[in-house]
Amino acid sequence: MKCVICKHVETVPGITTITLERGGFTSIVKDVPAQICPNCGEDYVAEKITAELLKAAEQMVKSGTLVDIRQYKAA
Ligand SMILES: [Zn+2]
Repeated sequence: MKCVICKHVETVPGITTITLERGGFTSIVKDVPAQICPNCGEDYVAEKITAELLKAAEQMVKSGTLVDIRQYKAA
């Protein structure tokens, strides 16, 4: 796909780190598969993966977790 920020460069498959914040809760997920722009570094994570991570974050907020750092594992 083309990067929506630069609009000229094609993204390449790679991995990225995602940070989610919700109220006082912070979740950091490393090694998430994504499309990365080689020009500006913008990362594009599949909607399915984002939804997965948000769902996991909801659970952690409910259980009272404040900070969570993990490595991404495909469901
Ligand atoms: Zn770009």
